[in-house]
Amino acid sequence: MAAPSFRIDDRVAIVTGAGSGIGRRLAIGLAEMGAHVGCLDLPGGDLAGTVAAVEETGRRAVALPADVTRSDELTEAVAAVERDLGPLRLAVNAAGIANAAPAEDMPVEQWNKVIDVNLTGVFLSCQAEARAMLRGGGGSIVNIASMSGTIANRGLLQAHYNASKAGVMHVSKSLATEWCDRGIRVNSVSPGYTATPMNLRAEVAERVRQFESDTPLGRMASVDEMVGPVVFLLSDAASFVTGTDLIVDGGVTCW
Ligand code: NAP
Repeated sequence: MAAPSFRIDDRVAIVTGAGSGIGRRLAIGLAEMGAHVGCLDLPGGDLAGTVAAVEETGRRAVALPADVTRSDELTEAVAAVERDLGPLRLAVNAAGIANAAPAEDMPVEQWNKVIDVNLTGVFLSCQAEARAMLRGGGGSIVNIASMSGTIANRGLLQAHYNASKAGVMHVSKSLATEWCDRGIRVNSVSPGYTATPMNLRAEVAERVRQFESDTPLGRMASVDEMVGPVVFLLSDAASFVTGTDLIVDGGVTCW
């Protein structure tokens, strides 16, 4: 038997949330592992920077300005990927937002916005991606959930965010079972505290110290540390892995 391959050479991928943070690093990481990458984010972000970084690896890229809450824009983005790069085989859905408010005061609009982007946006992304993958003979999807889908973070007032991420984990399992006999695997990766712009602001420095002391490995993750787990699930090395959630949290959920 051949050794398992973690390479994803010449496969065509789409990454949502690719203009910043984890999604941006994953778009570059997929290219480093051989994929051509469609980079999707809201218009106005730094998609051009991500596309340039992907191209520096020698792989091809296309910028896809789109909103993950808009089914029509997702369909158009997937069509653009297939036109410019080839049949879609891999997808990583990392677009997301976070904010906080005490539950008793949270306006329904704030609840709905987080659910719309983080949960409905992931479902609509999977739907658009899978329609192409079902036509093309299969693929592999990784949705970025969060350890907040498993725990309620100490001190963070974000019932809407936590609920959205629990939903991402479970919609991933549901879609894995719906598409299991048609060649599509669906999994989620749940990062712990990760050093992205969201967590590097001076005003959250005290909170970051708390995050670090809550983490058995004693620090936040770097975005680089999300690449291996995501590429593993996308690759043929994970050919018998579907419907699972891989927690990448430095051990937070052990305590
Ligand atoms: P980030 O740097 O803010 O990146 C998220 C990206 O998603 C941004 O470029 C954002 O654009 C984009 N986005 C937001 N709404 C969108 C929409 N409707 N359509 C398309 N793109 C949209 O955040 P991050 O920390 O890298 O987080 C990436 C993912 O990891 C999120 O799903 C987050 O919940 C998850 N996560 C993060 C951590 C952490 O500690 N950082 C931990 C666990 C899970 P704008 O900047 O224009 O809003």
